[in-house]
Amino acid sequence: MPLLDIHAHLDDEQFKPDLDEVLQRARDAGVTTIITNGLDIQTNRSVLLLAKKYHLIKPALGLYPDEAIRLVPSQLYEEIDFIEKNKNKIIAIGEVGLDGKHHKDRLDEQKEAFSLMIDLAMRINKPLIVHSRQAEQECIDLLTKKAPKKVVFHCFGGSLEQAKDIKRKGWYFSIPPIILRNQSFQDLVQLAGPDRLLTETDSPYLSSVKGKRNEPAEIPLVIKKIAELEGLSAGEVENIIYKNYSTLFL
Ligand SMILES: [Zn+2]
Repeated sequence: MPLLDIHAHLDDEQFKPDLDEVLQRARDAGVTTIITNGLDIQTNRSVLLLAKKYHLIKPALGLYPDEAIRLVPSQLYEEIDFIEKNKNKIIAIGEVGLDGKHHKDRLDEQKEAFSLMIDLAMRINKPLIVHSRQAEQECIDLLTKKAPKKVVFHCFGGSLEQAKDIKRKGWYFSIPPIILRNQSFQDLVQLAGPDRLLTETDSPYLSSVKGKRNEPAEIPLVIKKIAELEGLSAGEVENIIYKNYSTLFL
């Protein structure tokens, strides 16, 4: 079954020298789809260019919470227009959400921008790829109020109670290679069950090896770990994750 990386940043500086090799290793590992996420005005454009050049890269456009609050309202609305104009080229809205680690004091402004992004995703019928670091409950509350159906929590670090709530609402979690050395992700996988899971790398971040540049070729490691935790074969996990992906993105 084709393997999927639903959240990466392949336009990152760190991939400039050898992106062709990185993509070849991904293909060799069986990865057929890498959703590269925009973070701001500049990366939204570079993500579109990359997707035009490489067949296996699919673009998601968004505004990272830290970046969204840097824009004046006119820029914010212009960027939302830009994303909407490109709706036929993109597979999702991401990376969007809230961040309580940086700018906890500006959560209200972050919420305004995230709220506009949720409205946009619902208007153009695209899934949301959500960043929720240290603002998990605020993300859940805002999403619950707006009630979009297609939501993936990327790299979810909230409590198991919150994860249960997300699962009950029919939303998904994407699991990064750092799961190999992180017990919280292992607990999350067991709580969520295979039907609520997707795989991601967040490349160049969240590698299975501390300090190493991550890349989409690490996806088979995530599949193997999920299989072990769920008591399934790697093939079974691949099938279920592909089914989840089809339901959400295709
Ligand atoms: Zn990311």
